[in-house]
Amino acid sequence: MSDQAATTNSPSNLVVQCPQCKKPVHWNERYPHRPFCSQRCQQLDFGEWATEKNTIAGASVISDDDEWQSE
Ligand SMILES: [Zn+2]
Repeated sequence: MSDQAATTNSPSNLVVQCPQCKKPVHWNERYPHRPFCSQRCQQLDFGEWATEKNTIAGASVISDDDEWQSE
């Protein structure tokens, strides 16, 4: 059981920064949404990513196609 020993040896007081609100997030079971501090921050980050990607893909496809067709 060397794998379990390694897990036990790793620091349990590791603290990271929430990518969304920059709050300190303790890397343990009290923060199930780590590296985010909460589910709210996790969803905000995913929402921004999804919106950005959707906007870029939609805009480039539609404008390109439209201009080529009308010329
Ligand atoms: Zn946060």
